[in-house]
Amino acid sequence: MNDTVKKLADAMTGSKMAAVFTGAGMSTESGLPDFRSSEGLWEKYRPEELASVDALNRNFGEFASFYRQRIATLGEVQPNRGHLILADWERRGLVGGIITQNVDGLHHAAGSKVVHELHGTLREVRCQSCGDVRPASVFADETECGKCGGKMRPGVVLFGEMLPEDALQASSELALSCSVFLVLGSSLTVSPANMLPERARRNGAKLFIVNNTPTHLDDLADGVIRASIGDTLASVDELMKAKGRD
Ligand code: ZN
Repeated sequence: MNDTVKKLADAMTGSKMAAVFTGAGMSTESGLPDFRSSEGLWEKYRPEELASVDALNRNFGEFASFYRQRIATLGEVQPNRGHLILADWERRGLVGGIITQNVDGLHHAAGSKVVHELHGTLREVRCQSCGDVRPASVFADETECGKCGGKMRPGVVLFGEMLPEDALQASSELALSCSVFLVLGSSLTVSPANMLPERARRNGAKLFIVNNTPTHLDDLADGVIRASIGDTLASVDELMKAKGRD
């Protein structure tokens, strides 16, 4: 077994609490396509253009059909082994919370309770005018608010919108209170992903990164692993159980 995996298992075993940060790589292991790579579906507009406040305001038809498709795709995916292990680690007191850039709700579906969704969620829609929240499934038939007639929109953070203040605050507190900060499937390019691991590391936490491609924080990390997230977490889990930490 990889030495870095052993090092991660040792760190987790000795840790009072780990914080976990997840990105797109966590969801691709569930077979969820990265919407940025779904070429050809949207001939006139790039997906990034449709996932924006500008499209919501000026091009609602295309905006709604883009999100109807993304919500429908979600119905076909299930949490993977990695999601399930993280939920189990939370129940066992090993993980204090998950910070995620993903909007698919798969951590909740796996049973995790403390999940800070920095980019919101595709599992709900809300009225842009009165804020009424509904399950995303209604969006297939209704894009108009039943209460006020306003536009319904997905509960995700669109390009041109601020990240939710409460999730940011909670993520920052989690990063500063953990003794292990574990990054899973994120290239750590966008804010605050590019800052939280560094902040945790400077505060004394051990930093581990499991990602397919290099990140700008690899040099700062205590360990970098280029392997599947599910396989890595399963190995760490096995090692921890062998050490009697369960
Ligand atoms: Zn409304």
